[in-house]
Amino acid sequence: MDLMKATSPTATYLDRLDRARRRMYEAGVDVLLVSVGRDLPYLTGYEAMPLERLTMLVVPRDGDATLVVPRLEAPRVVEQPGVFNLLPWNEIEDPIAIVAALAGRPATVAVGDTMWARFLVDLLGHWPSSSTRYVRSIEVMNVLRMRKDADEIAALAAAGAAVDRIAAELQAGRIGLVGRTEADISAELGARIIAEGHQRVNFAIVAAGENAASPHHHASQRVVNEGEIVLCDFGGTMNGYCSDITRCVFLGDPPAEVAEAYAVLREAQSAAVLAGTVGTPCEEVDRVARRIIAAAGYGELFMHRTGHGIGMEEHEDPYMVEGNGLPLEPGHAFSVEPGIYLPGRWGMRLEDIVVATDGGPLAVNDANHALVSVDA
Ligand code: ZN
Ligand code: ZN
Ligand code: ZN
Repeated sequence: MDLMKATSPTATYLDRLDRARRRMYEAGVDVLLVSVGRDLPYLTGYEAMPLERLTMLVVPRDGDATLVVPRLEAPRVVEQPGVFNLLPWNEIEDPIAIVAALAGRPATVAVGDTMWARFLVDLLGHWPSSSTRYVRSIEVMNVLRMRKDADEIAALAAAGAAVDRIAAELQAGRIGLVGRTEADISAELGARIIAEGHQRVNFAIVAAGENAASPHHHASQRVVNEGEIVLCDFGGTMNGYCSDITRCVFLGDPPAEVAEAYAVLREAQSAAVLAGTVGTPCEEVDRVARRIIAAAGYGELFMHRTGHGIGMEEHEDPYMVEGNGLPLEPGHAFSVEPGIYLPGRWGMRLEDIVVATDGGPLAVNDANHALVSVDA
């Protein structure tokens, strides 16, 4: 019955686990081991503390899943009946031996990318690589995690709307820039990210003038002046899902070379957003932006990929980059963020988050895309 689709969290996790198991069949994986990282909350709602005591979800392809947690952290777990059994381990026990006993003798085991190496080394003591094949859990999890469901898209949209409001304040001249350091402005953006409803600030890049030519410049003690471009790229995590937006403002009237380059950037970014339709290979989204920028003579000045997937992590699959022929599917969420960087002079980037849907690309961000002149 369709009404049943108004799902409880438990139903969501059951469904995800079910799809993970189907994927395990396809990929020939006997046991999936998920430790710290985003796969664990995706499958169970539980976020492990990234500490030295082992937390691990053991998912045998054909048996019940078990969440092995340090006893002192067990009270933090919200149990999801039918999704996993909770198995706390005591301080003097060997948790890897517990995991090995639960998993039996797997021919193929999938391990999470962010499982600590110390645990992998201990696992190799139980299942030597001569008898057990080790694969990355992305073989199981990526197909699932890339395709966002309606609730996940709504969470991305809410986070996107929150950073849009901050961008609008920036463009309205209500965030002071001139005379402040990049670091100071960055701290204000961070505070606003929290004030707008995020639980965590992931980054707040503020790069003025020549600093904007370094795409991953963070924020320094450099003071912002009149007559400069200021690039702000910021995002956080709201209810488990990430925001990420870049807008540039100009303090005063931009010189012709900046205005001309920005017009090209804006055209490239908007064309690449529109290219984000279901069935389009990821690399084509990159090519669309790159072609326009190269045709205008700035090709050498756009040296990074056009975008990254986004969801529970700021950067995750799928990547909008040459060589990634993966066709976009409904629910794939990603950034479109071309840039033009003139070393020693200025830089600019324009970024929105987009979701591929059957109805076409759905832009999560809609803050003004112009290079707004501000007096602040
Ligand atoms: Zn980045
Ligand atoms: Zn960004
Ligand atoms: Zn980004």
